[in-house]
Amino acid sequence: LNRRLAEFGTTIFAEMSALAVTTGAINLGQGFPDTDGPEEVREAAVRALRDGRGNQYPPGPGVPELRAAVADHQRRRYGLSYDPDTEVLVTAGATEAIAAALLALLEPGDEVVALEPYYDSYAACVAMAGGTRVPVTLRPHEGAFRLDLDELRDAVTDRTRLLLLNTPHNPTGTVLTREELAAVAELAVERDLLVVTDEVYEHLVFDGAEHVPLATFPGMRERTVSIGSAGKTFSFTGWKVGWITAAPALLTAVRSAKQYLTYVSAGPFQYAVAEALALPDAYFTAYRQDMEAKRDLLATGLAEAGFGVYRPAGTYFVTTDIRPLGEGDGFAFCRSLPERAGVVAVPNAVFYDHREQGAPFVRFAFCKRTGVLEEAVRRLKTLA
Ligand code: PMP
Ligand code: GLN
Repeated sequence: LNRRLAEFGTTIFAEMSALAVTTGAINLGQGFPDTDGPEEVREAAVRALRDGRGNQYPPGPGVPELRAAVADHQRRRYGLSYDPDTEVLVTAGATEAIAAALLALLEPGDEVVALEPYYDSYAACVAMAGGTRVPVTLRPHEGAFRLDLDELRDAVTDRTRLLLLNTPHNPTGTVLTREELAAVAELAVERDLLVVTDEVYEHLVFDGAEHVPLATFPGMRERTVSIGSAGKTFSFTGWKVGWITAAPALLTAVRSAKQYLTYVSAGPFQYAVAEALALPDAYFTAYRQDMEAKRDLLATGLAEAGFGVYRPAGTYFVTTDIRPLGEGDGFAFCRSLPERAGVVAVPNAVFYDHREQGAPFVRFAFCKRTGVLEEAVRRLKTLA
């Protein structure tokens, strides 16, 4: 492994999912649902395969049906208008979207400000692009991990090229408020920054709150690359279909990088995801309500099992504090948990540059069947 990537070995998700397989433990580590997305969407993929749509290289930017569906989704939900031909790009999941955006937009040495803890591919992709990451730590305060806007402002220097934002936020479950986003937007305009905003959990926002895309704020549409994912929104993480919306100059840049990463994304799934994005609002509401009930089940169960619980406002993850259990090292805790309780979780420290800040926190995923979550809770209660 070269110097740029030396610090990034195997991702924690691979390590923990392998542990789940070898120990037979319930896997609440890696975030993937244990039930697949809508039947009609799977049928649409089968139809596309059978009808020979997308079995050969699809168009580089994505099939027109999907680009139109992405544009329509952004308009319908957020009032954001994007031209499917010049402002939408289909990617191999959000992971490629992040990689292509950073590779396209960063010069070597550019600083990238990102909210810590962060999804693990951010650090590796900033490194691959030759950038320098500047973490701004979300700090626990009154039951949630909060952004300190002064710290964010202080993190921006003359070398800062880009803010890498994620809301709803993995792993903390924080959803940035309209006021916080407005402040981020103001900062981006004032310091002339680009923003890559990872909004893959846009449909998983709870307690009546709403997800507000950063691109809707004044001055942001022209400087924002927004990212979505069918893995998260439709529970097809294995399909690896994601998308970007951005103004033409930014989109063209990201598309140039994508050309040489994957060239195109898998064809038949794109047609299916186009149909998925056109599902009636009832689908999105039911998905959110289902996940909200699961959040309640797991958050309550973890609290009863003795964990400190940060009840998430969004995503399908709950971050816990293991200190009330007399533990302090999330890594050691997660490595022993399958043996001790038959459950797999992820240590939040892997999402930090300042590892010590994340040491006592452990993340559990609740995108699992109710019976599985109930059994996990039953097992975790034996820890206390
Ligand atoms: N961003 C965040 C915040 C994520 O949690 C994930 C993982 N699911 C991704 C991006 C990657 O999404 P995809 O599976 O579409 O590549
Ligand atoms: N995004 C998911 C998570 O945070 C899984 C991603 C992955 O396995 N790379 O668990």
